[in-house]
Amino acid sequence: MSDARHPDSDDRRESDRRTTELIPKIEQGIVIDHIPAGRGVHVLAAVRGYPGMENTLISVGLNYASTKLGKKDILKLSTTNMPDEVIEHVALVAPRVSIKRICDYQVDKKYVIEFPQTISNKLRCRNSNCITNYEDRVTTVFRCFDSMTRQVKCGHCERIFFLDELDLIRATD
Ligand SMILES: [Zn+2]
Repeated sequence: MSDARHPDSDDRRESDRRTTELIPKIEQGIVIDHIPAGRGVHVLAAVRGYPGMENTLISVGLNYASTKLGKKDILKLSTTNMPDEVIEHVALVAPRVSIKRICDYQVDKKYVIEFPQTISNKLRCRNSNCITNYEDRVTTVFRCFDSMTRQVKCGHCERIFFLDELDLIRATD
């Protein structure tokens, strides 16, 4: 322990750096960062649920110190082939996370994913009277109602649901 006094922000930055280094760097792949603490396992479940992703090498970090969020979760995926669909799904599970594309151990591209304005053919409507549940040819479409509370509105029956209430439609269904 050093007895030198640092301003708080320096201390915090140092602790961010130390904790992030606990997960090994990846040569190629995707880092999903700034996941609100507690949602990392949901993101992991979403990613692993996709065909082709089940054998991907994934490191998971939970409850890391974050200057932005206080605590955060991080996922590192060693893959060169991450379908866009998976990223879109992550946006539903944990909006406003950072995606970093890693190439030769360096960040090649970094962006924040927002909660989508429109979600087409991905979620099943819970209203049993909704046309999407009895007409096979009618696909579902939900629009963002409130991105903070993650509420969406069915484009057909206009009912509003919390995203977590709705089941996902997968390509394999
Ligand atoms: Zn509906």
